[in-house]
Amino acid sequence: MRIGIGYDSHRLIEGRQLILGGITIPFEKGLLGHSDGDALCHAITDALIGALGKGDIGRHFPDTDAKWKDASSLIMLKQIVDDTAKEGFEIAWIDTVVIAERPRLAGHFEAIKLAIAETGIPYDVINIKAKTNEKMGFEGRGEGISAHAVCLLMRRNS
Ligand code: MG
Repeated sequence: MRIGIGYDSHRLIEGRQLILGGITIPFEKGLLGHSDGDALCHAITDALIGALGKGDIGRHFPDTDAKWKDASSLIMLKQIVDDTAKEGFEIAWIDTVVIAERPRLAGHFEAIKLAIAETGIPYDVINIKAKTNEKMGFEGRGEGISAHAVCLLMRRNS
C-alpha cells in the first residue's frame, strides 16, 4: 500500500473561467494559473505523484513549459493516473477537501466526480468535500481557493 498527500491553491481573479475538478462552474471569477488553475485536480495529481514517490507536480509539469499553458489539468491528472497503472498500482481511494468561501460547490460534486473519472480513476473511489473557511484567511476573503487530497494506492496482484 502507498499513501499520498496533495495540496494546492490558486488566486481568484476576474476575467477567467472557474475550472475546478475538471468542470466549469458559473462564477464571477476564475483561478489564475499557468494551466487552467484547477487546484482540485492539482492536489489529486500531487497526491498520486507522492504515493508513487515521484517528486511533485512541478517536476512533471513545469510552469515554464508552454505545453501546459492554459492546458486542461485533467490531461495532467490522466498522465499520472496512467503512471500509477504502469507502476503496478490501482487507486483504492481518493479523498479531497476544497476550501472556498464562494461559490457553493456541493451541487457540483457529481459532475466533478464524473469528470475526474474520465482520467481513469474509478468513479466510486473518489470523494469530494467542500468547506468555507468561516471568512478567515485568503479563502475566507475570497482571494483564492485551496484544495487538499489524499490517496491510497494498492499494489496489483500479478
Ligand atoms: Mg496548481
